[in-house]
Amino acid sequence: MEIKSNGVLLKSIDYNESDRLLTIFTAEKGKLTAGIRGVRKKGARLAFASQPFCFAEYILVQKGDKYTVKTAYLYDGFYPLRTDITRYYAASAALSVCLSLLGEEEKADGIFVALVQALKSLAYGEGDPAEPLTEFLLSTLQAAGYGIRLDGCGYCEEDLGEKPYFDFSGGCFCCENCAKGVRASLSTYHFLRKCSGLSYEEEKIAGGARRALKLLKTFLSARLDFNATCLEEFLRLYEG
Ligand SMILES: [Zn+2]
Repeated sequence: MEIKSNGVLLKSIDYNESDRLLTIFTAEKGKLTAGIRGVRKKGARLAFASQPFCFAEYILVQKGDKYTVKTAYLYDGFYPLRTDITRYYAASAALSVCLSLLGEEEKADGIFVALVQALKSLAYGEGDPAEPLTEFLLSTLQAAGYGIRLDGCGYCEEDLGEKPYFDFSGGCFCCENCAKGVRASLSTYHFLRKCSGLSYEEEKIAGGARRALKLLKTFLSARLDFNATCLEEFLRLYEG
């Protein structure tokens, strides 16, 4: 049976002499594994389709529960990601979240759209790369049922005040009176609100991007078997 599917390549592993095993995040069937033959030969026509970030229409042949890529038509390889190491690691961090979050063949359209959007912004946008990455992480957490609440104190629903806390188990910020979890900064809160499309206070945001991503890293690691290497590498380059 032949299947047409729009997909983003999350991961590629070499096997045999010239083949690869691909993990593709497809819009239609979620994450799946497919073999692709001969792509490591010099001048292979489908070499592009086995490169991470490749966004293409993949034509797959299904036999039982195994898939093979018959051919692929490129939409976007997000090539500029390969020329900017910081943006490359931000995009790789987005792929690693998909790898750990998505179940095999579980449809996840919302996350698929968010991923393509993040790769576009990271490859072609000129703004701070921490923003599209944070937007992606927030919308992905939301879609996976681990959304972070950003509407004041998560317990008493009052204003956060000047000394907020973040409660990792509740996935919310809280005020000094409720004081659950760990001390957090207002810059983290305002940066996360900005990346969620909510109103925020520009003068309180300085340093928020780095702190927000560190907080998201801890939050993700507590919930998923998440390989944080790319996100850590991004933070190292971003701070440097
Ligand atoms: Zn409170």
